[in-house]
Amino acid sequence: MAGSRFAYVRKFELPDSLLPGTFMVFRLDGHSFHRFSDIHNFAKPNDLRALQLMDHAARDLMEEYPDIILGFGESDEFSFLLRKSTDLYNRRQAKIVSTLTSLFTSSYVFHWSSYFLDTPLQYPPSFDGRIVLYPGEQQIRDYFAWRQADTHINNLYNTAFWALVQQGGETTTQAHHTLRGTVSKEKHEILFSRFQINYNQVDEQYRKGSVLVRQEIPEPPTAQVTIPKELDDNIPPVPEPSQTGGKKTKPKRDVKQKTKIVVLHCDIIKDEFWEARPDLLH
Ligand code: ATP
Ligand code: ATP
Ligand code: MG
Ligand code: MG
Ligand code: MG
Ligand code: MG
Repeated sequence: MAGSRFAYVRKFELPDSLLPGTFMVFRLDGHSFHRFSDIHNFAKPNDLRALQLMDHAARDLMEEYPDIILGFGESDEFSFLLRKSTDLYNRRQAKIVSTLTSLFTSSYVFHWSSYFLDTPLQYPPSFDGRIVLYPGEQQIRDYFAWRQADTHINNLYNTAFWALVQQGGETTTQAHHTLRGTVSKEKHEILFSRFQINYNQVDEQYRKGSVLVRQEIPEPPTAQVTIPKELDDNIPPVPEPSQTGGKKTKPKRDVKQKTKIVVLHCDIIKDEFWEARPDLLH
């Protein structure tokens, strides 16, 4: 077939490989989730089940793609940072975007019923996906700071908005009007004086979003008995099983440290998070 007179059409497919040596950020976002969340009765301002389901799908994605080294999620979106040197699908943009978006979506649907026990899916949800390339570390820091700042701004607004509606008896139109033009400090003030809500005590998961990173699993103790240090130092090195010659080496640890993916709700705007994980930016 390859040599048929039809095969020339293949030449219309253009290469779409992404510039090497740049950071890839892959972001996906729920399509029309305003409607989706209405139809599936998401709790407002934050439906915990929905956030946990997003985290689960993100974890599945990171488990399948080791080149994803960081994930950040809020609302109906997730951003993922890929290793700078990744060669995933030869860096073909459409291949990466489509397979990652597709796996995330199918995982979201696959696990739906574990989180929404009494709410069957009414229709198949979808997500859009894109990749943005960034040349340097600073832009990556700023990108994730931008998303987390957005989480904060949206959540403060939504928390105040739904307090006005659910506890203050305002209509949604009135609540929009009450909040129009207010700065952050005024929203804190409305929450505190009218509803006794201290915004800074609102669950970190809602204020900061979800941060997924790989963490090394501490090695389990290898022996039941503890060998005193003096003795341990005197144990002769064991030859490597693969070595047939007489050369002796120290017992070798498994060089590949096992890691697990953890979900944090921490600050990623300040330096601390990044300084503790220098590998993220290399
Ligand atoms: P688009 O297709 O352009 O993304 P959208 O309707 O999905 O449109 P977004 O800006 O992505 O618009 O906003 C997503 C909306 O989904 C939020 O405004 C909110 O109403 C709802 N939503 C998403 N996740 C949750 C959640 N965990 N709890 C409550 N509501 C949520
Ligand atoms: P890639 O990820 O590059 O697409 P691939 O393994 O999916 O790799 P394709 O060229 O897309 O390769 O081929 C899909 C393969 O899936 C077919 O070669 C065939 O083996 C199998 N397949 C797909 N649909 C069917 C089907 N209905 N019945 C039997 N086999 C199928
Ligand atoms: Mg949008
Ligand atoms: Mg959306
Ligand atoms: Mg969104
Ligand atoms: Mg295929």
